[in-house]
Amino acid sequence: METKQYKRIILKLSGEALAGTKGYGIDTETVERIAKQIAFVNQAGIQVAIVVGGGNIWRGLSGSSRGMDRVSADYMGMLATVMNALALQDALENFNVATRVQTAINMQQVAEPYIRRRAIRHMEKGRVVIFGAGTGNPYFSTDTTAALRAAEIEADAILMAKNGVDGVYDSDPKVNKDAKMFTTLSYLDVINKDLKVMDATATTLCMNNHIPIVVFNLDQAENIVLAAQGKGIGTLVSE
Ligand code: UDP
Repeated sequence: METKQYKRIILKLSGEALAGTKGYGIDTETVERIAKQIAFVNQAGIQVAIVVGGGNIWRGLSGSSRGMDRVSADYMGMLATVMNALALQDALENFNVATRVQTAINMQQVAEPYIRRRAIRHMEKGRVVIFGAGTGNPYFSTDTTAALRAAEIEADAILMAKNGVDGVYDSDPKVNKDAKMFTTLSYLDVINKDLKVMDATATTLCMNNHIPIVVFNLDQAENIVLAAQGKGIGTLVSE
């Protein structure tokens, strides 16, 4: 497993990660805890961009959107990610981390538009960039956004933060106490075994662009830092 510190990473946070024990909405204490870790990574000189989901507020394909037009429901999901992005920005700035939100749907009163070169420049200047509004397109996910942005900004790895699970297992560790965690996996393993790392579109994009994925447990303090430093926690998905 890799032990080298990454230079530039994409951190993928699901919407649920911001909800804490409430399970929905934004829990400011949880966001603060996450922001503190990101501040640490930033201070260690690692360039950080964040892709945040929206499932804590709205998900296109979910019970609450039943009967709705899929495209409208997906746009609502993308708007939900922007709310999460602003919450993260606020928390990061409380730790004195310069932060820019860039959205894939233009809303210039709220955030910058997504401009690849500008995002890279921000990171080079030590600013954390948060990508909101997913890819800007319906029928995609924020996992796919993470893979796409990682390829575009030439990130060394995607850190996939999971809640309540240490990495990728051969079966559900909450159901099967003998479930085994993989320390390494190939992209094809993930796709062929239908392992729950990220959706298939996102995994394929990572495979085609040789982007390693580190799946790790967000619930343990310091794990974002350890993952960014390449300390070999969780499961590494690569070639
Ligand atoms: N979404 C979309 N296009 C994108 C990214 C997201 O349409 O490029 C919508 C989609 O409806 C999705 C919702 O936004 O369900 C929230 O994103 P996601 O489910 O990936 O969030 P997470 O599960 O990570 O919280």
